[in-house]
Amino acid sequence: MRRRYGITSADVDTLIEAQGGTCAVCPGKPEHVDHDHETGRVRGILCFNCNQALGNVRDNPTVLKGLIDYLRRHSDAVTFTVEEFDPSSGDTVFELSGASLHAA
Ligand SMILES: [Zn+2]
Repeated sequence: MRRRYGITSADVDTLIEAQGGTCAVCPGKPEHVDHDHETGRVRGILCFNCNQALGNVRDNPTVLKGLIDYLRRHSDAVTFTVEEFDPSSGDTVFELSGASLHAA
């Protein structure tokens, strides 16, 4: 069975499985076949909100980045650092620093 964007429902199932059963971006329900509007190439399966969000910024990464920067500027950001040590060597094996958009 062929569907919109030239992929089959089996292709959609395969993509969803490869995405871990969720939207390609968030833990939401994968329900929209997202494609590049210029090339027509399928990018992934998105939930309703992520699909709407991409449409609202017209697939423009600069606008998306601007929105992220805007949120960070105007949030009560809490900075955090996560470190994970290897117990045998004491070496840091994982380190992540950032800012949470939500105050704890
Ligand atoms: Zn999503």
